[in-house]
Amino acid sequence: MTVSRLFVRLSVFAVTAAAAAIAAAQPAAPGSLPPAVDRVARAFITQGALEAPIRFLASDLLEGRGPASRGDELARLYLQTQLEGMGYQPAFANGAWQQPFDIVGIKAQFPKTWNFTGKTGAVNLAWHEDFIAASGQQKDQVSVPSTELVFVGYGIQAPEYQWDDYKGANLAGKILVMMNNDPDWDPNLFAGKRRLYYGRWDYKYESAARQKAAGAIIIHTTPSAGYPFQVVQSSWGGEQFELPAGSEARLAFRAWATEDAVRRLVKSAGYDLDKLIESAHSRDFKPVPLGVTTSLAFTNTISRVKTANVGGVLPGNDPKLAPQVLIYSAHHDHFGIGEPDKSGDKIYHGAVDNASGCAQVLAIARAFAALPQRPRRTIMALFVAGEERGLLGSAYYAQHPSVPAGRIAANINIDGGNIFGRSRDAVEISYGKSSLDTVAEGVAKSQGRTLVGDQYPDRGYYYRSDQFSFAKIGVPALYFSEGTDIIGKPAGWGKQQHDEWELKKYHQPSDKLEDNWNFDGMIQDAQLYMLTGWQIAQADALPTWKPGDEFEAARKRALADPAAKSN
Ligand SMILES: [Zn+2]
Repeated sequence: MTVSRLFVRLSVFAVTAAAAAIAAAQPAAPGSLPPAVDRVARAFITQGALEAPIRFLASDLLEGRGPASRGDELARLYLQTQLEGMGYQPAFANGAWQQPFDIVGIKAQFPKTWNFTGKTGAVNLAWHEDFIAASGQQKDQVSVPSTELVFVGYGIQAPEYQWDDYKGANLAGKILVMMNNDPDWDPNLFAGKRRLYYGRWDYKYESAARQKAAGAIIIHTTPSAGYPFQVVQSSWGGEQFELPAGSEARLAFRAWATEDAVRRLVKSAGYDLDKLIESAHSRDFKPVPLGVTTSLAFTNTISRVKTANVGGVLPGNDPKLAPQVLIYSAHHDHFGIGEPDKSGDKIYHGAVDNASGCAQVLAIARAFAALPQRPRRTIMALFVAGEERGLLGSAYYAQHPSVPAGRIAANINIDGGNIFGRSRDAVEISYGKSSLDTVAEGVAKSQGRTLVGDQYPDRGYYYRSDQFSFAKIGVPALYFSEGTDIIGKPAGWGKQQHDEWELKKYHQPSDKLEDNWNFDGMIQDAQLYMLTGWQIAQADALPTWKPGDEFEAARKRALADPAAKSN
């Protein structure tokens, strides 16, 4: 134990002496919040505790924390030394605070025109206007010999929904044409309007790769994607970032095409796109070989940089439960230095996104370290890298976890923070997925707040930050968003502020720490996360996914792994 940690603990004892003595003598029943824990949350999760790390991480000197930059290294050293000062221990093997990994950048040069041959003639798709694609391979040259297009409906295999679009068809070497989203027209199918992982493009491409397909083309429609084709053009047209390729199956390319372009393609084979789509709205759907052929060759420019996740642990005090870990995560990276905005500023400060998340994890970590009695399970503070490049740091951690996945009790991920004031509501994006809802609901209630679910369930926010990497390996993961029912403000004000922020500051140099920030809501939220985590760390049983949840099978596999057994 370090001197500073001892000092912190002693000072808390002084503040909360009576309550602490009671808590130490009589461990609280799981599910209830002892006053000492609440007092520590209030004493350590304060405006100063949140604002100071944001001031540092979002300063010009940190240069926007772009992966592998000097600012990135400084941010990591800062986070690591903060944890060290609190008395945390290094999270990684051989006493390492950091888990380094490479980010591979791929800039593909696709042909300006992509030629297809159907029964009734040729169809040419124009780059950018009709199609956008990214390389699936980390190689200088990629080519796909002449092969056939097969329409595979949604491209979904979901045993828990008795859904399999492939029906055992041999799709090796083919190009799969797939619909976006998941079956959403019937509330009894999948999750109705709520988009599941099965409905996301990343699932589609992984699913096609498992079929050993050569490539996949997702049909873009604005309703099924949730955004216009311009978003595809801007986010897929430039350099793409990935973890180094391993032994996993990979497509040669991952493409998007407009609905109109695909309509022309299938028409050249005598098919009507609307009828094909209609036929895919059924469990009995079978893949349709379209009789359209194409080949493709393109070149890549490949780069590699190094960055790292940062993590520390506070060992649990119950010998039986201490091998299990509750992970608080927040990404530390942002976009670095880039295109200047109208004011000429080119530093992407990332104050809300995500210096504020790092600050909350630091404050929570400090509060846990200051408790008169450590929680039963181990607490880990994990600052992941490369989130803005596609959840890369958390994906790397999930592939190389510091403890086996079956021993990770839960994840609470923080990406962003409320800067508009205290709210009557608390928004849990992950609501409806796991037993953690009840825990968070109880804590929110003790704060006098109402816990509500994702307000935009069709946008798939659950899959868009680092909690998703944990869910994929089966770890029940909580993800919140800021409340919008702001106390003392008229109805709709909070949402209006949030929308305005998103328009003017999200992923722009103007996401800076400003004097008009109101920290009261962020304090309230971080206390909610800390107290929710404390209960998870204390409970006899591990949290569980709701029966039938899309990630339940992964959890079963993780728990069955002999390495997951404690001790
Ligand atoms: Zn972001």
